[in-house]
Formats: sequence, structure tokens, C-alpha cells
Amino acid sequence: MKEITFLDGSVVKITGEKPCLGCWLVENDSNLPSLIRPIIENDKITVAQDVECPIPGFYIIAAKDHYDSIYDFSEDLYSEFFSVLYEVRKSMTDALGIDLVSTFCEEKSGGSHVHYWMLPLHADVMKRHNIKPRIHKGNIATYLDLFNCEDEKSKIQVENVNSYIYSLVLSLLGKGEFEAARDVLSRLVDLDINEVCFLFDDSEGEDEKERKLLLFSEYAGWQTRSQDCSDHRRVILELPL
Ligand SMILES: [Zn+2]
Repeated sequence: MKEITFLDGSVVKITGEKPCLGCWLVENDSNLPSLIRPIIENDKITVAQDVECPIPGFYIIAAKDHYDSIYDFSEDLYSEFFSVLYEVRKSMTDALGIDLVSTFCEEKSGGSHVHYWMLPLHADVMKRHNIKPRIHKGNIATYLDLFNCEDEKSKIQVENVNSYIYSLVLSLLGKGEFEAARDVLSRLVDLDINEVCFLFDDSEGEDEKERKLLLFSEYAGWQTRSQDCSDHRRVILELPL
């Protein structure tokens, strides 16, 4: 049996012959505390806030199946995994305002879920506590202990949503995939962050759907965070709000 304490203090006991946290998270993702539910996932990959450290924007990109190393990936999975890693890294700066990120991958043998830790180095915290993130002489363990869930949980939720919508909905909008974007937005409503409901009526035309999505992007503040959003900003300004 393996016992895990999540960042909000809740504890789970994972049983079975070879108790595996990665498998347990995949099988139980809809019952997880909202802070650590995947923000992006498909049938192969998940991206979620670290389950133990309440550092806002600390995302883990993991394979859903067992691979000890990226060396075990197929070429397609390798390409998809690192495209997602790139998008998440990009959103950490563009949507969350994080300048520096340290990325780690601890390999383990015997059927693990290869995963990359994308640890945001929050400049204000680093400066206040004189944290030096050097891999050979650093005090990054001290940094990890500087955050507690009670202080950080609202920021984690907001960053989850911002990172999520930035990297995913924006790309769906770009491709005109409104149905997929609707699924994403319905999950945002589940997170109970927003007072506005973004579910569409099936009778609405594509223009109306797009208008609502763009209003949402305005609400989320994308247009102030990235040059990449300039096209969407232009559309927003042309809409009769
Ligand atoms: Zn597993």
C-alpha cells in the first residue's frame, strides 16, 4: 500500500500488488481535488498541478501509460509529448507571467509514468528568500517548502484556468473547433471559478459561439498577456460588446 498526502491535506491510500500513483490519478481524475485535476489531457498525456507541492503554476506533464524513459516512447508520442511541454512552457510565461522555469525528469525503473516537472521560479519568492536554483549547489528544496496550500490555493486555481484556457482554447479557436472548445469551457464551469456560464445553445450560430468565446478570452485577460493573442484582440475590439 502507498499513502499519498495531496497539497490540500487530503490523504489517499493506494492498494494493489504494485500500487502506482500515476495509474491511480488517471483512474480517479474526476474525483480528485479540483486543484490537481488535469488541466489538459488526452488518451496518452496529462498536464496537472503537482499533487503535493502547492506552488502556483507547478505543472507535471506525464504519460498515461507506463514508460520508464522518453527513450521508450514511439516517435509519435515523443513528438506529441514535447509539443505539449512546449505549449505549457509558453503559457507559463504568456498567461501566468512566469519568467523562469526549471524542468526536471526523474527516471525510475520497473514501469513508471515518465513525467516532467515544470517548476516555476517565482522571482519575488526567490529574491525574498535568497534562493539560488543551481543544480549542484542550489537550495531548491528550501524553495519547495516556502509555499503552503492555504495561502496559494486561489492562485493555483486561477493559474490552472489561465494556463488551461491559454494553451488549449486559444488553439481550438484558431482551428475553428467550437465543439471541443465548448467541452473545455464546461469543465471551467465545473471548477467553479467563473460566475458566467459559457455553455452554448445548439441553436446558436457559429458567429454567436465565437463571440462568446472571444468575450471569455477578454474576461480571462489573454489580450494583455501575449502578442500571440493580437489577432483575437483585434476581433474583440470589432465586436459590439
Ligand atoms: Zn502506473
